[in-house]
Amino acid sequence: MTKCSHLPAPPHPAPRADGCEEATGGWWVHLRVCLHCGHVGCCDSSPSRHATKHFRAADHPVVQSLEPGETWGWCYIESKELGPFPALR
Ligand SMILES: [Zn+2]
Ligand SMILES: [Zn+2]
Ligand SMILES: [Zn+2]
Repeated sequence: MTKCSHLPAPPHPAPRADGCEEATGGWWVHLRVCLHCGHVGCCDSSPSRHATKHFRAADHPVVQSLEPGETWGWCYIESKELGPFPALR
């Protein structure tokens, strides 16, 4: 298990949406869930990059992939892969 000092203590909040909660009529490639508050946003391959915007706006640096079967996380501050975490889907 790779951790970092920014990773909040478990239990982590459940994803609070099924899709990017800030995409208004937009689309996305992949989803990331904020492990600090459960915010669901789209990845940096998506046009709006809402997960990265949420990190900057809320100062919540650690996300986990919300893609089926994926167990990796990411710290935006260190650009470092974390995990493995239990898959969320
Ligand atoms: Zn970190
Ligand atoms: Zn958050
Ligand atoms: Zn989005």
